[in-house]
Amino acid sequence: MPKTLNPNRVKMHRNYTVEEVASLLLVHKNTVRAWIKDGLPVCDERRPTLVLGTQLRAYLQEKRRSRKRKCRIDEMYCMSCRSPKRPAGDMVDLAPVSASAHRLMGLCPTCGSLMNRFASDTSLKRIKDNLDVRIPKALQHIGKSNLFPVNSDFS
Ligand SMILES: [Zn+2]
Repeated sequence: MPKTLNPNRVKMHRNYTVEEVASLLLVHKNTVRAWIKDGLPVCDERRPTLVLGTQLRAYLQEKRRSRKRKCRIDEMYCMSCRSPKRPAGDMVDLAPVSASAHRLMGLCPTCGSLMNRFASDTSLKRIKDNLDVRIPKALQHIGKSNLFPVNSDFS
C-alpha cells in the first residue's frame, strides 16, 4: 500500500462507501475491495456496501503495524538494501539504552552496512536464543555517554 495512506484521515463516526474510501485514501476501488476480502469488516446488510469509520481506521492501523513488524526476531533492517537481514556471522553488539531497552548493532551480510535495532528486555532474550550477542566495553561507554546527556534527568 502507498506510504501516504494515513489512518487519521478516516473519521471515526462516519460510514463510507467503497468509492468514498477510495477517494479519501487516494487508492483504487479495487484496492478497497481487496481489503474487504482481506478482512476489513463491512455492514453487509446494506447496499451499497458501507465501511464503518472506526473499523476502517483500525484496519489501516493494523496494516501499518504489520508492515513495521517485518523483521523476524533474528533479523535487522538494512537501510542500504532496504530489507531485513540476518546479521553477518549471526553476531550483534549490544549497547544499553536504559534499564529495559537495548540497542543492537550488526553488519549487513550483503553490503556490509551497519544495521541498528532496538530491543526490549523480552525481545532481547529471544534474540539471544537466535544470535550471538556481545557487549563490547568501549561501545558500552560510547552508547551511554551519547544516550544520557549530562543534564538529562534520565536516572
Ligand atoms: Zn545491506
